[in-house]
Amino acid sequence: MTGIFTSKIKMQKTPYGLRTHIGILGRRNSGKSTLLNALTHQQISIVSEKAGTTTDPVLKAMELKPFGPVVFYDTAGLDDIGKLGKSRVQKTYSIIEKLDLAIIVAVADQWNDFDDHTVEHLKKYRIPLIVVFNKCDLSVPEPALLQRLKEQDIPAVLTIATTEQGIDDLRRLLANYAKKEINDPDTIIGDLINADDTVILVTPIDNEAPKGRLILPQVQIIRDLLDHDARCLVVKENGLKWALDQLKIPPKIVITDSQAFKQVDQDTPRDILLTSFSILFARFKGDLQAFVDGVLLIENLRPGDEILIVEACTHHPISDDIGTVKIPQWLNQRVGGELCYSHNHGADFPESIEGLKKYKLVIHCGSCNFTRKQLLNRIKKCGEADVPITNYGIVISYLLNIMQRALEPFHFPE
Ligand code: SF4
Repeated sequence: MTGIFTSKIKMQKTPYGLRTHIGILGRRNSGKSTLLNALTHQQISIVSEKAGTTTDPVLKAMELKPFGPVVFYDTAGLDDIGKLGKSRVQKTYSIIEKLDLAIIVAVADQWNDFDDHTVEHLKKYRIPLIVVFNKCDLSVPEPALLQRLKEQDIPAVLTIATTEQGIDDLRRLLANYAKKEINDPDTIIGDLINADDTVILVTPIDNEAPKGRLILPQVQIIRDLLDHDARCLVVKENGLKWALDQLKIPPKIVITDSQAFKQVDQDTPRDILLTSFSILFARFKGDLQAFVDGVLLIENLRPGDEILIVEACTHHPISDDIGTVKIPQWLNQRVGGELCYSHNHGADFPESIEGLKKYKLVIHCGSCNFTRKQLLNRIKKCGEADVPITNYGIVISYLLNIMQRALEPFHFPE
């Protein structure tokens, strides 16, 4: 197998949630697809002179040097018309919350309020953006427009995508500007451990475990531990006591699936740190403080209140599923009556602030397949609707009265 081939396989296996998501947005016929093809040197998008060739967003996962693993979204024109066109525009807007970075492709002499509105919309979602004035053989931006963008800290590049003029400038800008703007943590657990520490991972293999493999949060944490030269020991919940007995030096931390929290809490000596996969992801993908603040409001819930439970993937629920069965049962017990549960999966999430307001609490899974930006946008939306949001691991540790212990590894204020 050649080196190129192996690295291609590695590249394709980087999970979507760990890639930088870059959207190519703009009006029809501004040259978005041609620009993307020039940028990536790949025929990802169908390019035609006819306006509106791209329909649904086209996704392309690739390695963009020196940036690293990225996903590009080539999108339909934001000014698309007709019934079908409107649904395309809606699809484009629906991917905006996922983006780490947006490239607006525009033709200079067509820039008007419509494009300013697009800029404002992206700023609302706190998405760093770059404006590319394409087709600069036909028109170049007025100095006043460039100045206005500069005053908003929005870099602009001039290109002719068909001849690749300006494409290197755009690549350089992407590498420098985006790295500065995208501040994602680059480790899930590396800052909590030292090289040569031992970490025990507890992963129950029950009905909910997918056949023949571990789930993504478990795989990502094992990889992160190895990247930081730690040793990891993976056991089922009934293997934890045995593992602890075998080790001459105790583990630095035990990380458990939240469903086994109670037993693992009992089996892990109090001087060993303990947390869950889901809580680690609450910090890595979201905002631990917001989730802890959210869980404390469980005490205000009353029977009949509406609760939204959200899973970022679309697996088929099984009989004693954590999101549809276990969390609702534990919460009902705590509240002393039946709450009303709604469930969202994958990209589904209330679109409007008004739609969110009816819920008294949102409980989100670890979001291992989401970008951090995507989850932070949901947290922000909940904040705007004044609806508390928390996470699976936090809510389970809270309901089992072990949240304080589960947060100790993060030196979390009491
Ligand atoms: S439910 Fe959430 S955390 Fe669990 S595997 Fe799916 S996306 Fe990842």
